[in-house]
Amino acid sequence: MSDCIFCRIVQGEIPAKEVARSPSAVAFHDLNPQAPVHVLVVPVTHFDNAAATDSDEAEPILAATLRLAVQVARQLGLAESGYRLVMNVGAQGGQSVAHLHVHLLGGRQMSWPPG
Ligand code: AMP
Repeated sequence: MSDCIFCRIVQGEIPAKEVARSPSAVAFHDLNPQAPVHVLVVPVTHFDNAAATDSDEAEPILAATLRLAVQVARQLGLAESGYRLVMNVGAQGGQSVAHLHVHLLGGRQMSWPPG
C-alpha cells in the first residue's frame, strides 16, 4: 500500500534502522523505543493487523514474522534474559500504525499487567 509507512519502509522508500530481513518479514528499530531493545518486525505483505490474518494466505506469513522476531531476539542477545513480544490490535489495543507488526522489547525487566 503506497500510503502505508511500514510498506514504504519494507520497500526501502523510507529510511529505517534495519536489523534483519527474510523473504517474508523485515525487522527494524522502533523510532520511539520503550526499552533498551525495541524492534518492530513486520510482514512484507500488508495486513492491517492480526485481526486481518484469519486466512490460509496469512498463516505462513504470520509464522515467518514471528520466526524472524525470535531470530532477532537471539541475534541481539536477549535469548537468555527473556523478552516480550507484543501485537497491538485496533484502537483499544493501542495500535497506531495499520500494518501488522510485532514489538520485540527487551533489555529491562517487564512488568504485568501492561498499561
Ligand atoms: P503501535 O502503536 O503498536 O501501532 O506501534 C507503532 C510503532 O511504530 C510505535 O512504537 C512507533 O514508535 C513506531 N513507528 C512509527 N513510525 C516509525 C518509523 N518511521 N520508523 C520506526 N518506527 C516507527
